[in-house]
Amino acid sequence: MWIVPEREIANLMTRDVAFDAVETVFAAMASGEAYNFPVIREAIGHEDALYGFKGGFDRAGLTLGLKAGGYWPNNLARRGLINHQSTVFLFDPDTGMVRAMVGGNLLTALRTAAASSVSIKHLAREDAKVLGIAGAGHQAKYQLSAALEQRSFDKVIGWNYHPEMLPNIEKVAAEAGVPFEVVDLPGMAEADVIITITSAFSPSLMADHVSPGTHVACMGTDTKGKQEVDAALLVKAAVFTDEVAQSISIGEAQHAFGEGLIAESDVAQLGAVINGTHPGRGSADQITLFDGTGVGLQDLAVAASVVNLAIAQGVAIEVDF
Ligand code: NAD
Repeated sequence: MWIVPEREIANLMTRDVAFDAVETVFAAMASGEAYNFPVIREAIGHEDALYGFKGGFDRAGLTLGLKAGGYWPNNLARRGLINHQSTVFLFDPDTGMVRAMVGGNLLTALRTAAASSVSIKHLAREDAKVLGIAGAGHQAKYQLSAALEQRSFDKVIGWNYHPEMLPNIEKVAAEAGVPFEVVDLPGMAEADVIITITSAFSPSLMADHVSPGTHVACMGTDTKGKQEVDAALLVKAAVFTDEVAQSISIGEAQHAFGEGLIAESDVAQLGAVINGTHPGRGSADQITLFDGTGVGLQDLAVAASVVNLAIAQGVAIEVDF
């Protein structure tokens, strides 16, 4: 089997490779060639940790496996380690033998940023100029870098619940040479694309903070109870997601669906837009919303790409197993 350690990922993986891997697997999910297994997520009663597995099988890409890991809230303060920890395991779908073990921490940020980026490519207006971001934590930096590559944005506007964190994203905008402005939430009405990437459990971005024609990528809500945007926004918007079952149970759509404001059939797969079986954005004035819940197949897709790169560049470790 091959091992690709976490320390190698930054040198191997690029945003372009992550984007292609995620776009391809979203398309395979929508055409029925790839499916995710039910997610396991457990509070293990030790170190306040949440641990679980996200897995799946992509018949088109012949990728089988799982990401194991979760959230250890005391890591940073007690050990200087990042709180999110994960490892991807890939298996040979012909034999069931383990093929690779891959560090999953940076890959998670890259595949999550790639997902919102894919949604911007397929759903945002071509003439989008102002990129808004609500959130300034670890993921926000990757989200912003990836999104800036999708349109000719001439300004980034940012809001964060903890304003002292805003320099994190200001730095990313500066590195990309795009002006950055701090706004309050109503100020988000200026944005043509808005990414929300917070760990909030109550909505910040309300329906009247979003102008007609905006594309909103909701990326922070990946668990029951979390919520970043007003449920009424999902009623106004054309809603897309990575996986419908996750969207209405653990994604941003869980609230609008749970309150009976939208039906399961109101949520479409982004992969269908990629495949051309769904028209996507209906008009320049329509609000589109992508509910990025994070699926195991995204992890497997980027991990499979990075294993191939690591083998080609001679940095994958081969273990007789
Ligand atoms: P982080 O801890 O680095 O940052 C948290 C962010 O949430 C900060 O911007 C913080 O100011 C903000 N925040 C905290 N409490 C808030 C509140 N009450 N109201 C509004 N904002 C608040 O976390 P991160 O690693 O950047 O992750 C952000 C979120 O993205 C988490 O919920 C995480 O689980 C989720 N996530 C989703 C995916 C996916 O595939 N969809 C993947 C990875 C992470």
